[in-house]
Amino acid sequence: TASKEGKVFIKALFDYNPKEDKAIPCKEAGLSFRKGDILQIMSQDDVTWWQAKHEGDANPRAGLIPSKPFQERRLALRRPEIVVQPLKLSNRKSSGFRRSFRLSRKDKKTNKSMYECKKSDQYDTADVPTYEEVTPYRRQAHEKYRLVVLVGPVGVGLNELKRKLLISDTQHYGVTVPHTTRARRSQESDGVEYIFISKHLFETDVQNNKFIEYGEYKNNYYGTSIDSVRSVLAKNKVCLLDVQPHTVKHLRTQEFKPYVIFIKPPSIERLRETRKNAKIISSRDDQATAKPFTEEDFQEMIKSAQIMESQYGHLFDKVIVNDDLTVAFNELKTTFDKLETDTHWVPVSWLH
Ligand code: 5GP
Repeated sequence: TASKEGKVFIKALFDYNPKEDKAIPCKEAGLSFRKGDILQIMSQDDVTWWQAKHEGDANPRAGLIPSKPFQERRLALRRPEIVVQPLKLSNRKSSGFRRSFRLSRKDKKTNKSMYECKKSDQYDTADVPTYEEVTPYRRQAHEKYRLVVLVGPVGVGLNELKRKLLISDTQHYGVTVPHTTRARRSQESDGVEYIFISKHLFETDVQNNKFIEYGEYKNNYYGTSIDSVRSVLAKNKVCLLDVQPHTVKHLRTQEFKPYVIFIKPPSIERLRETRKNAKIISSRDDQATAKPFTEEDFQEMIKSAQIMESQYGHLFDKVIVNDDLTVAFNELKTTFDKLETDTHWVPVSWLH
């Protein structure tokens, strides 16, 4: 990464078309980009309009993009729960990219001087996604594997893809062992199907934020602990985890360096064609609840995928459409191979 020294790269977390931006001083001078694009910052001299170009673009001419403070501010303005005060002069002076990023990363309170929030605890920079400073990263041979998070709507085939991946190379891929408070069945062993613990301990662990997610089923608790992810990675395996997209935010740490894959349904027409004889498993891996897909299931799946993409799309590193299972599986496999050999863009905070 030495050649990248001194350069500032950002990942765009929103789509931008300067032609539709009423505020830009000159539409022709604007740079259009899509959510997920990597941009190189060329100038931050202006508080409102930065100059940037697409990463790797040989054309040295930079275009205008809304600055992070400006974009955050106008996005926040559209949200009624956040009351925005005018930018103070002192803030204007200190709104350089690195500076604003450091501040917002270090201390959320800093934002409060710019945005006076009615409910300040609800305000979070991640809720107004603009840009994220990124840096190239390639896993070194001695390093642990990255956590791979799979997200997608119920019925999209996520569990099937996960299972296929696991059996394709059991030495290389691993999944977490969940905790439960229910009694161990005779054929089960502690630490294999589940880690069996008491209700009291489970509740204490919940209090201490030991779980990534948990739920209740037939008067017992079930959940996935953070330590269970650690133990898969400690075995030098790629950890496959499927969770609700809202949990991804908490997993985005230097320790886990999660790579997030969104499994997306195809069009409703293709769903009808390809899932005609398939069954939907609505609660995790509970085969007993499997039943044939209905038209409502298809519509629900599409709607849920749209909501996930619009709310959490900026956290997805890769989107795979599960139209044909074999094709989707091969794409998934290629993605995993590349994850181990290629350079990827990760938040700068993960490397410090
Ligand atoms: P069983 O007790 O038959 O092994 O599992 C019953 C149900 O527990 C599963 O179908 C699933 O709904 C739930 N379950 C199993 N593991 C987990 C987990 O890690 N987290 C959550 N939230 N639920 C789980």
